[in-house]
Amino acid sequence: MISDFSIGENNGILPLLNHKYKITFFQSTKVTRIDHFDEDVFGFKLEPFSDILSKKYNDKDSVDVIGAIVAIGDIIPIPNSLMKKVRRTVIIEDTEGTRVKCTFWDKWAEMFNQYVSNDAIGPVTFVLQLAKVKYFKDEPAVHNSLFGSRIFINKDIPAITSFKQRYTTKEGYSDGDHKIEVFTPPVVKMTPEIFFKQIVKSTVGGVRDLESGTDVVIYGKVHRIQKEHGWCYDACKRCNKMARVSKSTGSRKAYTCDDHGVIYQVVPRFKVILRVIDETGSTPFVVFDTNMSRICNGVSAYEIMNKHGQNTADYFPDDLNVIVGNKYLFKFTYTQHNINSNSQVYTAKSVSDDAELVAHFNAAFADGHVGDDQYKTPDVSFAHTGGLDAASLNINKFLLETPDNQAQSSINRVVASSVNIDKFLLETPDNQVQTSANNSVGKNDGSSGSKTMNKKRDIIDVDEL
Ligand SMILES: [Zn+2]
Repeated sequence: MISDFSIGENNGILPLLNHKYKITFFQSTKVTRIDHFDEDVFGFKLEPFSDILSKKYNDKDSVDVIGAIVAIGDIIPIPNSLMKKVRRTVIIEDTEGTRVKCTFWDKWAEMFNQYVSNDAIGPVTFVLQLAKVKYFKDEPAVHNSLFGSRIFINKDIPAITSFKQRYTTKEGYSDGDHKIEVFTPPVVKMTPEIFFKQIVKSTVGGVRDLESGTDVVIYGKVHRIQKEHGWCYDACKRCNKMARVSKSTGSRKAYTCDDHGVIYQVVPRFKVILRVIDETGSTPFVVFDTNMSRICNGVSAYEIMNKHGQNTADYFPDDLNVIVGNKYLFKFTYTQHNINSNSQVYTAKSVSDDAELVAHFNAAFADGHVGDDQYKTPDVSFAHTGGLDAASLNINKFLLETPDNQAQSSINRVVASSVNIDKFLLETPDNQVQTSANNSVGKNDGSSGSKTMNKKRDIIDVDEL
């Protein structure tokens, strides 16, 4: 019970509630505790999801929502933000099957870690109280607010108990079906500064002139998908590592994860081998889940499995064919394993066709602009010295002729076998190929490729392409 207070308009910058008026406390205001007069001690005012999706609420309106978790996203770091460091998307469903996206920040995002690996039977349900409706790209979502929001996850309170009762008795519901999908939402925009940090830009043919451990970006066309290697694998929900089918215990299908032992729930993840080609050669790339999803219009392996069937080994979804013929930047590390095993299968760490990144890449291979930072001769230590191919001979010769360049280094190093040749050619103006630096790079690398092919490379079977 409250006495000696005042009522004012609730029109501040950040009203916690969308009520019209607020109570103002004075020093003389008295608050007295009284006995319960209502069962609902939490005061939830649960809003229908249809109202949220139909944009009935304004940005920053506060709502209470209840739902069963159907999907949990990865924790996404927020760059260049003083306040918020990470976010996570969680998708909840009401008893009608309508879904609403919730975004949780910082500590709130971490609260869902335990449910990502949840093998428990039955829905994980929460009430989010005093959440904010927000619109991102016109799409409504519910966020926890900086102050005031409360969450009750799987708590034994009347609202959750009765929701679960309704949710689990709806037609077609089965405990075993209720899996929480773990997914990776699209990451924030990548800048050239981040993407090309400490990497070497190369051609496919130029990669093998690099030292092991070098981080490389090449720009090539997806010539075909090596469908014979399949398109996905069963992953442990906690670590995304491959889960192997193990001896089933009872009626439940069981798997084994190297890190997490026996597990009962797995999710499909993309693992696709692409044959990538440029003017200097071709090579297979293994592309995993997030990258594959991004270049295939955001489709997830989980969605494909739901659409085409659970036996993922039995088919190859045409959803993935959209990338064939497209050109992408492929970022990867040229590993000692690649050298030792003579394996030319590179694991793509990042795949992108972002126009700004592509332009940045191409700038390194354009003609002219000697003196531009990117055209500085890389360190001597970086130049390949062991090979006998034409490209490295040219580089070494070039370096010997310009010893003052030795001290120069650039974070944004460009592959030696390409750029030095450009520069070299530019200094021999009678050479006709200088009008097309890209072609000359290709030809040089190509010829070097054919020389070293006998020495250390697999001969690429044209039919294999
Ligand atoms: Zn695991």
